[in-house]
Amino acid sequence: MGEDPSEPAAEQVKAADPRAEFWEGAVRSLLLFIMESVLDIREIEPDKFRKRLNAVLEKLAAGGWANPPERRFEKHKVEIAEFIDKQKAYLSDREKEFRDIIELLTKAMANVNAENEVFNLKVFEQSEKLEEIIRLDDIRKIKSALKLEVENIRLAIKEKESSDKGRVEILSQQVETLSVELAKAREESMRDGLTDAYNRKAFDRQMKNLVQRNSVMQAPFALLMIDIDDFKQINDTHGHPLGDRVLVSLVHKCREYIRAEDFPARYGGEEFAVILPGASLKNALKKARHICKAIAETSYRVAVDGEDIELAITISIGVSAYSPGDTEIGVIERADKALYAAKHAGKNRVASETEI
Ligand code: GH3
Ligand code: MG
Ligand code: MG
Repeated sequence: MGEDPSEPAAEQVKAADPRAEFWEGAVRSLLLFIMESVLDIREIEPDKFRKRLNAVLEKLAAGGWANPPERRFEKHKVEIAEFIDKQKAYLSDREKEFRDIIELLTKAMANVNAENEVFNLKVFEQSEKLEEIIRLDDIRKIKSALKLEVENIRLAIKEKESSDKGRVEILSQQVETLSVELAKAREESMRDGLTDAYNRKAFDRQMKNLVQRNSVMQAPFALLMIDIDDFKQINDTHGHPLGDRVLVSLVHKCREYIRAEDFPARYGGEEFAVILPGASLKNALKKARHICKAIAETSYRVAVDGEDIELAITISIGVSAYSPGDTEIGVIERADKALYAAKHAGKNRVASETEI
């Protein structure tokens, strides 16, 4: 044939060797496939690499590859492998960065409120989505998907903040309502249900407090013991319910003559006590006489069995005052004895502890 069998022309090789034709096609397909796999990552200069691949493909088309093709391909092989390694390294670096970001975000979100189950579920879903994003291999897709998810996370945190705020507001309202109700209940537990005067329990406590206060500082106080005269007769004549109304109006009337800081209490039955903080025996006696007179001068027009009746009541008052070294029992006993003296002296009057 006259040709050097070791250096045949490309056309001849093609014509003569179908296997060479097959390999040439395979190499072209492979190069095109590599070309398509090149990602648009500016940092690894994809255009430059594409140009190089194009040049190789053109050379191949022009039949520039003579036998043996392996030798020719060797330097391209190194170049392609280097680029693929570069691309792989870049992607794995980015993947690690994204994983770090996800971990950071997940930890930050979990810290917002570890107890809130709904929120935690949302965070969990979000981090799953982030994991999915990592699997996307287009860096631009990763960026835009990540942006969207970060926005979702921000929204979830905002929702959480406002729901927490709402919860705190509701709780503080409840606390406020409870403390008002508690104060009301405490006040009610100190009151007598019929007359709204302080009850015996509150009176005992107040007396004890006042005596205790005097062991620390001088805090004089006086005590009036009030008992309705012939109350049994009122009950017997007009009935128990009217007797009750008399008790209520008595307290009402007494309040007109005492100050806000004075302490009117129902001592028991139709007997009342009024503590007068800061009052001397003299002042207390004066006040007691005022009250006694006012009650005696008041007449009540009440309807009994459809009939209007005029009702007048009188009271007797015993007065005592705290003196240094006193006990609450002592003060009460002396006022009680003075009250007995007032009754004994004819009722509708005031007696002092000095008269016993
Ligand atoms: P004195 O002038 O000596 O105080 O005579 P009195 O009748 O007021 O005294 P006595 O202790 O004999 O009677 C008191 C009466 O007060 C007897 C009791 O039935 C009545 N009483 C006590 N508590 C109540 C009450 O809550 N409502 C009514 N309506 N009566 C009561
Ligand atoms: Mg009485
Ligand atoms: Mg009595």
